[in-house]
Amino acid sequence: GNFVPPIKSNGGNTGNMTSRIAGKCEDVADDSTKRCLEMLCGPDGELPERLRNLEPRLIEHISNEIMDKDPNVRWDDIAGLEHAKKCVTEMVIWPLLRPDIFKGCRSPGKGLLLFGPPGTGKTMIGKAIAGEAKATFFYISASSLTSKWIGEGEKLVRALFGVASCRQPAVIFVDEIDSLLSQRKSEGEHESSRRLKTQFLIEMEGFDSGNEQILLIGATNRPQELDEAARRRLTKRLYIPLPSSEARAWIVRNLLEKDGLFKLAKEEIDTICNLTEGYSGSDMKNLVKDASMGPLREALKQGIEITELKKEDMRPVTLQDFEYALQEVRPSVSLNELGTYEEWNKQFGSLS
Ligand code: ADP
Repeated sequence: GNFVPPIKSNGGNTGNMTSRIAGKCEDVADDSTKRCLEMLCGPDGELPERLRNLEPRLIEHISNEIMDKDPNVRWDDIAGLEHAKKCVTEMVIWPLLRPDIFKGCRSPGKGLLLFGPPGTGKTMIGKAIAGEAKATFFYISASSLTSKWIGEGEKLVRALFGVASCRQPAVIFVDEIDSLLSQRKSEGEHESSRRLKTQFLIEMEGFDSGNEQILLIGATNRPQELDEAARRRLTKRLYIPLPSSEARAWIVRNLLEKDGLFKLAKEEIDTICNLTEGYSGSDMKNLVKDASMGPLREALKQGIEITELKKEDMRPVTLQDFEYALQEVRPSVSLNELGTYEEWNKQFGSLS
């Protein structure tokens, strides 16, 4: 009963804000909403057909919170995952850059699933795709659709696909897609989440059959929860595994070098790699963060005040800092879970 919608209400104004827009955005009262809509209007100042029946506040939310005009991630920022990068380049980036060549027999699938343990770079890949293909990136977490947007999820999904179709080429990244497209629970499934799922599949079907340049990327840590309908629409399914030893070394070096803190010898890096078997990319990032606090903690222990501390007086990060940090930052993925991903990959994953 105390549910508060996550977007600002219009204070009871029942004018144009909540109503659907018929055509021109001039009729919209709220300035920021108007600006959003204007950006989506054609040269004639008319709102595209698809957006006309949608609530302006939802379009505004999509434009401001879900659309990322500059995802700012490049392939070179992602350690390892050469296989995934190669597949994605062929399957997604080339077709987005050259739709004229990728048609007919070469027409690409419109759905890609990235699955694997958390913190391995799935979101980074989604952003890099948008960056490399010069596409607009839309990020939505499917669990927010079911938790935050209770009762409004369907409308939001319609608005999302509507705005994406006006912003082509577009990449829609749906995180935790399992919570949206999970296997139908025979009795317990809520009517509203069933409707949301149906709406989502209808939208996907719509752009799959058309000539739209929209790619849907679903990411999940629980691929085994997806049902057959979801698998059918996400035609390419790529396993994003834990980083290799080389990729872990790259992450350590890259993060420390960025801050000018890198002074480790090759053997020291090798030792860190040997000690971090089973760490995800995000675990590695946390490890580097913790280790880089070492020099600071040591200086403070010697009685220097934080306000007096000079950057140039701090020593570089050492192997010992990493050894201490390893006690704090433990791997977040268990061996058991890895087995599940590998099994699913064998059964449903795309190997090339
Ligand atoms: P996922 O979507 O797989 O859960 P993310 O892509 O959100 O994981 O990664 C979380 C963070 O972990 C990233 O912001 C990045 O700092 C780090 N990270 C994870 N994988 C990699 C990788 N392969 N290369 C570089 N950094 C990584």
